[in-house]
Amino acid sequence: MQKGYPDMAVIGRSIGEYVCVWAEEACSAQRPDWESKAISRVAELLVGYDQWDVETRRAHVDKAKALLAKLDGRASTARRRRHRSTRTTPRQRMQQLGYLDQDWVEARHQKSTWAWNLRKLGIETKRDLLYHFPRDYVPVKSIVHLEDGERAAVLARAGAREERIVQERRSFRLIRYALEIADETGKAWVTSFARVPRRGRRAAAIGGSPLALNYAEGTRLFVEGTVRRARRLIEIQHGGSEKLSGDEAPAVGSLVPLYSLTSGVYQGQIRRAVTRLLSDLPELLDPLTDRLRRRYRLVGIHEALRGIHWPASQEEKEAARRRLAFEELLTLQVALAQRKSEMQRPGSGISMKPRGDLVALLEDVLPFSLTRAQQRVISEIVADMAVDTPMLRMIQGDVGSGKTVVAAAALLIAIQSGRQGALMAPTELLAEQHYLVLSRMLESLGTQVELLTGSLPARNRRKTAKRIAEGAAQIIVGTHALIQKGVEFDRLGLVIVDEQHRFGVRQRAGLRSKGVQPDMLVMTATPIPRSLALTLYGDLELSVLDEMPLGRTPVETRWIAMRRVGEAYEFVRRQIVEGRQAYIVCPLIEESEKLQAEAATQLCEELRSGVFPDLSIGLLHGAMPVAEKDGVMQSFRHGKISVLCATTVIEVGVDVPNATVMMILNAERFGLAQLHQLRGRVGRGAHESYCILVTDRKYNPLGKLAPNLDDVRQACGRLEVMLQTTDGFRIAEQDLLLRGPGEFYGMRQHGMPDFRLARLARDLGVLEDAREAASWLIDSDKSLEMREHAALRKQVRALRGRMDEVAG
Ligand code: ADP
Ligand code: MG
Repeated sequence: MQKGYPDMAVIGRSIGEYVCVWAEEACSAQRPDWESKAISRVAELLVGYDQWDVETRRAHVDKAKALLAKLDGRASTARRRRHRSTRTTPRQRMQQLGYLDQDWVEARHQKSTWAWNLRKLGIETKRDLLYHFPRDYVPVKSIVHLEDGERAAVLARAGAREERIVQERRSFRLIRYALEIADETGKAWVTSFARVPRRGRRAAAIGGSPLALNYAEGTRLFVEGTVRRARRLIEIQHGGSEKLSGDEAPAVGSLVPLYSLTSGVYQGQIRRAVTRLLSDLPELLDPLTDRLRRRYRLVGIHEALRGIHWPASQEEKEAARRRLAFEELLTLQVALAQRKSEMQRPGSGISMKPRGDLVALLEDVLPFSLTRAQQRVISEIVADMAVDTPMLRMIQGDVGSGKTVVAAAALLIAIQSGRQGALMAPTELLAEQHYLVLSRMLESLGTQVELLTGSLPARNRRKTAKRIAEGAAQIIVGTHALIQKGVEFDRLGLVIVDEQHRFGVRQRAGLRSKGVQPDMLVMTATPIPRSLALTLYGDLELSVLDEMPLGRTPVETRWIAMRRVGEAYEFVRRQIVEGRQAYIVCPLIEESEKLQAEAATQLCEELRSGVFPDLSIGLLHGAMPVAEKDGVMQSFRHGKISVLCATTVIEVGVDVPNATVMMILNAERFGLAQLHQLRGRVGRGAHESYCILVTDRKYNPLGKLAPNLDDVRQACGRLEVMLQTTDGFRIAEQDLLLRGPGEFYGMRQHGMPDFRLARLARDLGVLEDAREAASWLIDSDKSLEMREHAALRKQVRALRGRMDEVAG
């Protein structure tokens, strides 16, 4: 404008046009009223610029400039003022941070039973309540749209109410309540049953509970339940109901939360408590910074909490869930990374190097050559052990992929560097087997292998402990007896934990603390998707044995109904006649070791007296004295026993290549990982092997008593997966898909609390994002000291607390 006021086209427009567009854009942004008004005035001043002479142009521009200057001044003071008011003082921040840790129970509920019950459930703070996410949702619908069999909610007015005694007993009555309701689209009956005591305070209490459907005619209601439609009649089996007041009703089309309950707590009570908490929520510090949320397109904490409890739509719920799952996984990653860096300070470990070619050395004493996967994993271990940062590595390898040989290689490195190595197994059975295998393999190389288990006579144990302390014992194989008091190592360099999912973090830490900072290797046969493994075991490096030794044929698997079990026994007999051996696993009884032992004993008797009177049958269960167990295992290994009737004690590690049949009774009771492990006991030799899964009936493997269709579907799903594949990775993936959120094999043992939201199999994408974000966070601010990370830091600390609790 300095240049004599021509009508310069700004970006292809005349000034008049330009200024209009500018004003429009400026005003559409959020601004205080006076700002918008002033902007419009400036625009008005300049419209028509192209038609004026120079004088008019100058006059108008001067006015506009003056206006703009004023506007600028006012805006910057306002900005300053606004800034001051949004910037929180440290005290306010502390309050914001602490808000969720307050007790959620309002004064007026302090004494109510349901609040007390919820607290017993572990819901104590506001955070606990807000993070008690719904387990499911029901849609709010119009009555006319209700469908038979669905669970839904309606908003309606109460009509007539009926009460009928269905059953009369001395101490109680069973009463059926029915309430007519109506909305603009139709009518329905809400029904509920209540067992009402004849006398006493409880009898009176039922009348006041939502079950009695005691609503005055005309009351506006929210009713939720399972719908039954028979021709024109619509019945809603009462799941929950509430009087509506004012405008707090959820809209048709939105979703209503269903919470997991405990006895004495109704849906409505939790809903109300959550709703009240949500509506009173002050500004919270978001554990996810703006930057993170923008980058991964995540909604803010307020929107997320509201959206997970009371979503207005399916999309809103998904967005909330994704964000909260991200938060959950990120917190976990950061917690694990911190744990890792605490355990793994450079310079605190021992540098150990092999002398000569390990693989060649091993192949000299073994009847086979190592697979490429075994060689690769061994070289990864060699590299880890050579540096003075303590090794923390996990070997994932399917059942039978040959992890023991890899363990032997690692132990050799430790010994060649003048250190001791320890191998810890979850059961005595397995410890003994490792002891046998390793001493056979390594003693020809002049290595001293010792066994230390809890069942050794005290005198022997003391002797062994002495040899360990003096360093005469080089490799020590054992159970958790290894980490008990009285066992001191001389120069412990390496600790290997087999089938680690059976061990708690505490136990592992116990063994580590015995040496300076020994290297650590954990081996597991629970193969899970890589990204998941990296998350769940984020404090460990990962090696994968993804190749089976040559010459293995996949185990042939069959699923039969109990009435055909005779044919299966015939098959077993034929295998035994051919010189093979078989396992028969008795039905799983999780409730008690004693019952399980009885069941196994009984089955064994039946087999001995009825089915195979002419064969030698062994019995193996967890409650047997150790010496007896050893004896049985020895005889089976040497072929003196043809059929081993056992419980899941044989689940891990047992290695008898001549056994070719694994028969599992009531297979529906076992988890997928367990079935896979059990099947892994056969198919270890040159002979064709078989796995026979037996269930009571095929179309309903859970038997008559199974009320829950979901359980039936899951059981069938597991058995189908077993038929389809022998690949442990695929099985683990399917296992994840079949399970609900939060249940995961081996997670608790790793000191991992259940997930509240992340559905591990479905959320692999979120998981990748969270991992990326975590590694970025850890690089920039590992201990989360920055102010903007205060809320996240708090969550990480809380999670680490819970992890220690789970482990301990
Ligand atoms: P897992 O990984 O289940 O612990 P093991 O270490 O017990 O497996 O090995 C299973 C069987 O495979 C053992 O009998 C072992 O001797 C054999 N084995 C291991 N590695 C090889 C190989 N490279 N070639 C052939 N057989 C092998
Ligand atoms: Mg093993």
